[in-house]
Amino acid sequence: GFKPASRIASVGVSRILQIGARAAAMKREGLPVIILGAGEPDFDTPANVKEAAKAAIDRGDTKYTALDGTPELKKAIADKFRRENGVDYALDEITVATGAKQILFNAFMATIDPGDEVIIPTPYWTSYSDIIEICGGVPVLIPCNAEAGFRLEADQLEKAITPKTRWVLFNSPSNPSGAGYGEADYRPLLEVLLRHPHVWLMVDDMYEHIVYDGFRFVTPVALEPKLKERALTINGVSKAYAMTGWRIGYASGPRALIKAMAVIQSQATSCPCSVSQAASVEALNGPQDFLKERQESFRRRRDMVVSALNAIPGIDCRTPEGAFYTFAGCAGLLGKTTPAGKYIGTDSDFTDHLLEEAHVAVVPGSAFGLSPYFRISYATGVPELEEALRRISAVCVALG
Ligand code: PLP
Repeated sequence: GFKPASRIASVGVSRILQIGARAAAMKREGLPVIILGAGEPDFDTPANVKEAAKAAIDRGDTKYTALDGTPELKKAIADKFRRENGVDYALDEITVATGAKQILFNAFMATIDPGDEVIIPTPYWTSYSDIIEICGGVPVLIPCNAEAGFRLEADQLEKAITPKTRWVLFNSPSNPSGAGYGEADYRPLLEVLLRHPHVWLMVDDMYEHIVYDGFRFVTPVALEPKLKERALTINGVSKAYAMTGWRIGYASGPRALIKAMAVIQSQATSCPCSVSQAASVEALNGPQDFLKERQESFRRRRDMVVSALNAIPGIDCRTPEGAFYTFAGCAGLLGKTTPAGKYIGTDSDFTDHLLEEAHVAVVPGSAFGLSPYFRISYATGVPELEEALRRISAVCVALG
């Protein structure tokens, strides 16, 4: 029979994708399922970006490109880092890959030896730990609960560092919690890192443009330039520009690291998609004002979801600073029983029950390493969101 390699023995298909597949199957059976599981904006890719892609095809930009990004795209990325983040990178300190996911994969493949540790504030985006395990590393998960604003604190970081620590990985605003690290949150953490020169800093700024209530996004290298020589700053066009399917992510970092990542990419994909790179040049160089409008639309939905959730007895939802997720506590529902007599012992019992009874698909906190919580992605139309929240409320009230 089939026997998988040991490097994937403990890694399954993403829980989020599994729940999405189950919900989609129920929908095909004709059930009125509402999916609040996927991490994808419901907006369309901007028209100017689509036009740039069409022009690229007509121009013949349909061949292999430079290994880790076209010079045009690297230039647009360098300009973006300078303009929006106040950090300076040369073109050979920038890399482009098939999504930020491949950036993470390239980076860990290129730097992790068996047993090397990566510190991850938890809850975390599920792929982090799986990619690290595939690369032979050890994810070191540090719980950061709602009371701590789902943020890592300096003493937790200090205690987690060992001689085997290779990286610490920050994601602000966070998937799944929506928590953002402002300057005051980052400063003490960066101080710790300055005292441990063997630890490298990886930051995933994917949700930079989706922030609320005047939250000031900052990226660590801008705050502490001394860390630039051991920091990888990851970003991409998927979430900000509603370009998840185009598969373009990018990062900046020290030349030697960028070169090592290119070795991995050269034997995996050869280069990112030529047409998508041309489209991404336009996304980064073109008009940016629509970002504010989309942000405002996400903010209205966030407010609606947070207040509806907090109105349900047994659910407690912190107001997130960014991204399009809420990560609500459901401790008050555990130990209850459904009308059919099923015991709700864990957050995944609860989310299973929501899917079966309310036909609403959400993801349990356990998928992100922290329980008892559940994540709602609110990048969905308002009527659907309202209906989903009505159903969630009815199901919760019926628990005894
Ligand atoms: N980083 C975070 C925090 C994400 O939530 C996601 C997607 O869900 C990604 C990275 C991956 O993005 P990409 O589409 O660029 O691979």
